Amino acid sequence: MKLATKALNGNRYALARIISLVEDDGANARSALANLYPHTGQAHIVGVTGAPGTGKSTLVNQLAKFLRTQDITVGVVAVDPSSPFTGGALLGDRVRMRDLAGDPGVFIRSMASRGSLGGLARATSDVVKVLDAVGFAVVLIETVGAGQAEVEIARTAHTTIVIEAPGMGDEVQALKAGLMEIADVLVVNKADRPGAANTARALEMVIDRNSTRGEESEDAWIPSILQTIALDGAGVPAMWEMVAAHREYLRSTGLWTEKERARIETEMLNILQNELLDQLLARVGEEQMETWIGRIAARDVDVYTAVRAILEGEK
Ligand code: GDP
Repeated sequence: MKLATKALNGNRYALARIISLVEDDGANARSALANLYPHTGQAHIVGVTGAPGTGKSTLVNQLAKFLRTQDITVGVVAVDPSSPFTGGALLGDRVRMRDLAGDPGVFIRSMASRGSLGGLARATSDVVKVLDAVGFAVVLIETVGAGQAEVEIARTAHTTIVIEAPGMGDEVQALKAGLMEIADVLVVNKADRPGAANTARALEMVIDRNSTRGEESEDAWIPSILQTIALDGAGVPAMWEMVAAHREYLRSTGLWTEKERARIETEMLNILQNELLDQLLARVGEEQMETWIGRIAARDVDVYTAVRAILEGEK
């Protein structure tokens, strides 16, 4: 039996195997992905992002636990673009797993740096597709708030939760990272700490400012601000309610489909770009590339002329 068929039938080993293949980016992953693809499109994909230490992992764990009490299956993909480790289940997973171990309704996987951001974003999106195909109703993508990576990866999600915690300059940091723009739900975690209400107020002001700019239509989604205590799970049900409301909003406005088309377009263009470049480099060969580099360095030719010549197949 094919790996994909086994995974679709609920075989955990096959599922883990396919995810490893996706991470290795081998040809075997391509055929499994092709077989799984018709089964995708059901999961609610939720991004969770924020600066390190805001409590993302703790909150994601609590959310997963809460979803299980509601009988909702959940896959978790934890992405760390800055981590040099590769290859799946690391210590983090084992620590997380302790709470949810043995529950077939949960699947947790860590993804680390692929050498390039594009590679990581693609691998993440493929792992999410696999979890979606095999039937996880919710897929949580947890990313460290480090800037462009979040924005890239958030494109995969239907709903993005941005997490803040009380502390100096957090609001400004979020603004700088452009995180506010991608937030559908804003969470001030560590609400047990002093300053949480202030942080919430500061975020509220930013949202008010954004939503009174007048660019948005009447029925635009305005993110609400919630407070949570990830340590004991306080506020998690309310947070989920908001995430579920956002899903309904996307569904009822048609944005669900629109977002999906936009995501597919970006994905297709990225893959086309990579494959075209690979094809071209294979055709031109390293030696010729070296020659062109030498000629450009010697001011014999400029880079645009060289690129044009390479594309036209000139030697
Ligand atoms: P991440 O780096 O964003 O994933 O953050 P972690 O989930 O690893 O949490 C960072 C630290 O904050 C840990 O020591 C947590 O125990 C702690 N923490 C998480 N949530 C809360 C909370 O709601 N209140 C308090 N006081 N501490 C928290």
